[in-house]
Amino acid sequence: MSIRIEGIQKRFGDFVALDNLDLSIRSGELTALLGPSGSGKTTLLRIIAGLEQADSGRVHFNEQDITGQHVSERGVGFVFQHYALFKHMTVFDNVAYGLTVKPKKLRPSKAEIDKKVRELLELVQLGWTAERYPAQLSGGQRQRIALARALAVEPKVLLLDEPFGALDAKVRAELRRWLRRLHDEIHITSVFVTHDQEEALEVADRIVVMNKGRIEQEGSPDEVYDKPANPFVYEFLGNVNLFRARVQQGKSRIGSEEVPSPEHSQVEEQQGFAYVRPHEIDVFTEAHSDRIAVTLDLITLVGPTARLEVLRTDDQQLIHIELPKEHFKALNLQQGDTAWIKPRYSQVFLGEGI
Ligand code: ATP
Repeated sequence: MSIRIEGIQKRFGDFVALDNLDLSIRSGELTALLGPSGSGKTTLLRIIAGLEQADSGRVHFNEQDITGQHVSERGVGFVFQHYALFKHMTVFDNVAYGLTVKPKKLRPSKAEIDKKVRELLELVQLGWTAERYPAQLSGGQRQRIALARALAVEPKVLLLDEPFGALDAKVRAELRRWLRRLHDEIHITSVFVTHDQEEALEVADRIVVMNKGRIEQEGSPDEVYDKPANPFVYEFLGNVNLFRARVQQGKSRIGSEEVPSPEHSQVEEQQGFAYVRPHEIDVFTEAHSDRIAVTLDLITLVGPTARLEVLRTDDQQLIHIELPKEHFKALNLQQGDTAWIKPRYSQVFLGEGI
């Protein structure tokens, strides 16, 4: 089931929660709506679900306009952050619930329900919990049951709102990988809301980066991480260091090095800047005209990675660097030493940076 959002506008009083949004979601893909708190992710998800009505704009499922359709007619399944399992029902009855409340004509037989629930419990790898109650399960297990329950009615679209938000970091990480594998198996069109960039990068086929009710960028995880469309996406997708650039007559320079210019650079001199991620900086023990002198302020070795905090000797700017621990050890540098760095600049944006 493909989803197409066209010109969606949503206000709460004077506040514009979604600002004339267009978005296409391809059938069978797992799409992450990623953005800071208040960017409109949940509102968009609720509009897709039919739990909220937009002020204007249309929602299409498989190119059919379903804007006015009630939530119960849309064939969507939900999983929310706080597991909405029925406490007084067993796991089996929770998963069976959506099937047992169907109108009599559409309701499967008891034997069919039994078979379906057992299959779903196997799918989420929790067959052994059928007779337990939610209170006897861990948080992560409850979310897997919530997912099995959402899938029981065979929705055409699965909507997940911060499904792992209430869990601790380790369980979250496990469930992400589990969701990815599950999606590879069942290929249901899924949209999930998260404010955690690592979660989106790891799990999603497509990432929609949202900010202030607008879409900043939409693309594959590699595209949004490696080719951010603008400074907001750069900053939101991971740590960055900022380097000042001079943009003059269509040419940009950082120090003495010429770097690719912004598209709309004008003739007169302008301020610009480039972002460089910590792993995009090479470290040397010898000076060179295109290298920047720094002092090693802090060295932290974390697993296979060396994380460095260095200070530029010219203006004391703090720069974060990450490199493989073995490379760093081969340089034979200690805290307090002087070293030279060469950032791999990619694109220059006009302005001062944010
Ligand atoms: P979060 O991660 O914090 O849930 P979000 O990106 O999902 O953020 P939304 O929940 O969609 O953001 O909310 C977008 C904005 O709209 C927020 O500023 C929120 O306060 C506002 N908002 C959402 N629902 C309502 C409502 N029913 N009444 C008034 N304002 C609302």
